[in-house]
Amino acid sequence: MPRRIDLEQKALQLIIGNACQGILQSELWRKLGGSSREGSRTAIKLEGKGLIRREKELCNGRWTFRLYPKRLPASLDSITDCPCLMCPESPRCDSSSAISPQNCEKLTEWLLFLASNESSESGDS
Ligand code: SF4
Repeated sequence: MPRRIDLEQKALQLIIGNACQGILQSELWRKLGGSSREGSRTAIKLEGKGLIRREKELCNGRWTFRLYPKRLPASLDSITDCPCLMCPESPRCDSSSAISPQNCEKLTEWLLFLASNESSESGDS
């Protein structure tokens, strides 16, 4: 039987791998080869750590939970248009120099663009 921390990590990886549609708690434990009791305990632990959210769902006449990750790992796609990647000032850019991320207009514009996209996707106004 895998150690509890290993089980939590494997469970979290599976939940992240099914981020869009979520994964039923029962399906997760079947894939991990654990018992439903172990599964419930692990899901509650992951929820308590703020790593997942559980949504109650009626499935085949029984109440269960569908599990979703609260956060997804950053992907390379999320930074491909970061201005720093192609910036000619990059070798001289440092927080202690005149050229720095703290006063860079290009970086600020990019971050504001990301923030406005994120808020429009989440429905904030
Ligand atoms: S913070 Fe600005 S100046 Fe510095 S590397 Fe990024 S884009 Fe270039």
